Amino acid sequence: MEPPAPLVDPAAPTPPAADPAPATPPAEGPPPALPPEAAPPPLPPPAPAPKRRVRGGHQREEREEPWGECFKMAPVHPEGGPLTAFSATCLIHTADNSRCNKSLNLGARFSLEEAQRRIKKWCLDGVAIANEAGSKALHMQDNPRSYSEGDVPLEHDEMDTRALDLRLIDFPILR
Ligand SMILES: [Zn+2]
Repeated sequence: MEPPAPLVDPAAPTPPAADPAPATPPAEGPPPALPPEAAPPPLPPPAPAPKRRVRGGHQREEREEPWGECFKMAPVHPEGGPLTAFSATCLIHTADNSRCNKSLNLGARFSLEEAQRRIKKWCLDGVAIANEAGSKALHMQDNPRSYSEGDVPLEHDEMDTRALDLRLIDFPILR
């Protein structure tokens, strides 16, 4: 007698389909060579320094000359024309952050020599005014036009000597 044929295929059942493998990250090789770093663009040239503001356009300032260490003097020629006045700048009264500047018009009344004498007296009068708030106003109240002849007893050379004897101790010398 022949053995009966097996009813069941003895072959092992096929294993269930494996779950799809989780995606594995690609093997990390050496990082791709980066392109050479581009050189930074050249810096723009530095902006030119702002030009120093030119102080005023006054001819007077260009003609200013020191008188001693505390004052500057200048003849005034408007528009470069004939002399019309004489002016002085006082360097003593800095407390108000602005300078005393006195100008005396010559007109028909004063010669240049007389205007200079009066302006010099105005300067020397200012020495007696302490440099403190309001000192500029005080000094500017002094009016060389209204001096009487007896108010200006000193001659030029005497006033020049006094101006030269003055020293700016606590004030910057602006020249
Ligand atoms: Zn002054």
